[in-house]
Amino acid sequence: MDRPGFIIEPAEAKSMAEASSLTLTQLLPSLITSAQTLARPPISNFRVAAVGLSQSGRILIGVNVEFPCLPLHHSIHAEQFLLTNLSLNNEANLQSFAVSAAPCGHCRQFLQELRGAPDIQIIVTSEPNPKPTSLSRFLPHRFGPHDLLPQQTPLFLEPRNNRLTLPNGVCNGETLDTKLKIAALEAANKSHAPYSDSPSGVAIVDCYRKIYKGSYVESAAFNPSLGPLQAAVVVFIAGGGGEYDEIVGAVLVEKDGAVVRQEGTVRLLLNAISPKCVLQTFLCSVDQSSV
Ligand SMILES: [Zn+2]
Repeated sequence: MDRPGFIIEPAEAKSMAEASSLTLTQLLPSLITSAQTLARPPISNFRVAAVGLSQSGRILIGVNVEFPCLPLHHSIHAEQFLLTNLSLNNEANLQSFAVSAAPCGHCRQFLQELRGAPDIQIIVTSEPNPKPTSLSRFLPHRFGPHDLLPQQTPLFLEPRNNRLTLPNGVCNGETLDTKLKIAALEAANKSHAPYSDSPSGVAIVDCYRKIYKGSYVESAAFNPSLGPLQAAVVVFIAGGGGEYDEIVGAVLVEKDGAVVRQEGTVRLLLNAISPKCVLQTFLCSVDQSSV
């Protein structure tokens, strides 16, 4: 079967829309069925796809991912996958998305991390007459980032640098191990963790020596937060990764002294999906010279 990818570049998206005499937003629902084939839900067997349109005109796909032998809260929802895909591609915001079933409460909350979240247009394709409806209709009276943060704090997808630095002597030469550590550091420095000030990132490498990195993303409501290994797994799947046991190495970078720690949870998830994977953790200090 010819499986779709997780991204459609603006020129291709535009020509697809024109060929069907649709606007880009109208095109999104037509991509849902093929996107659902990309989901990995071995527990529910309920395939969810979210197909989003970015500010730059790209179409990006998110799907749900479940992990057997672990509590359900380790699962990745399609909308979380979509937002991680946007971050991976340095997209500044999400304009609209189609989704195969109404967004759950967890995702309505997670989406609040984007600036202008109430105006995001959502098309639920399982409804009889799907039409764009703003997120504010799905989640009125929202609790959002600005209930906890000053207005000028960067939100998710906005540029940030957490300025973590690896301990001296950790990187030796141009080895795969060094590249993995640097990738994890880059992911940690992009991490959206304004509520706990505990940024973290994970880089994983597969048996083909391909590296995938993911950043921890916090939610103002805490529980919908997305762990750094989950984010790296999203990038692994979106990047064409196969079975999880192809993941052979992982590096976690965390902030030294952080109030939220990821290592125990990352080890738990890695043990469940790729038991032979070797995990290294580095606690990093903040580079005060660049403050
Ligand atoms: Zn959800």
